[in-house]
Amino acid sequence: MALPRIGETVHYVSHGTPHQSDGSQAYTSRCRAAIVTEQTSDPDHPDQIGLAVLNPTGLHFDRAVPLHDGGATPSTEDCPNPESHGHPFRYCACGWMEASFAPGSWHPMGSCDS
Ligand SMILES: [Zn+2]
Ligand SMILES: [Zn+2]
Repeated sequence: MALPRIGETVHYVSHGTPHQSDGSQAYTSRCRAAIVTEQTSDPDHPDQIGLAVLNPTGLHFDRAVPLHDGGATPSTEDCPNPESHGHPFRYCACGWMEASFAPGSWHPMGSCDS
């Protein structure tokens, strides 16, 4: 995939606030508009970019933000109950995790519903 160019807009996935004891969050992870400020020169991490994130309450600058395409995290070992994945559980002891965009990552506009 071609990296977005300097000055183009992508989505940055914000970090939500910590989970409270009942499992809820005051602020959940969300997509934010972000302008590309630099492209990496690191051959080991070619999909990292620098971003100026436009939060509703202020700017946030970050460098070396990784791409995350929102895919599900696959199981890391044999799961005794793989049919439970997503029905109804969003996580499984085997390491499987429901598809979602990782906080602190970026993705192109149009690859999510936001
Ligand atoms: Zn998005
Ligand atoms: Zn599992």
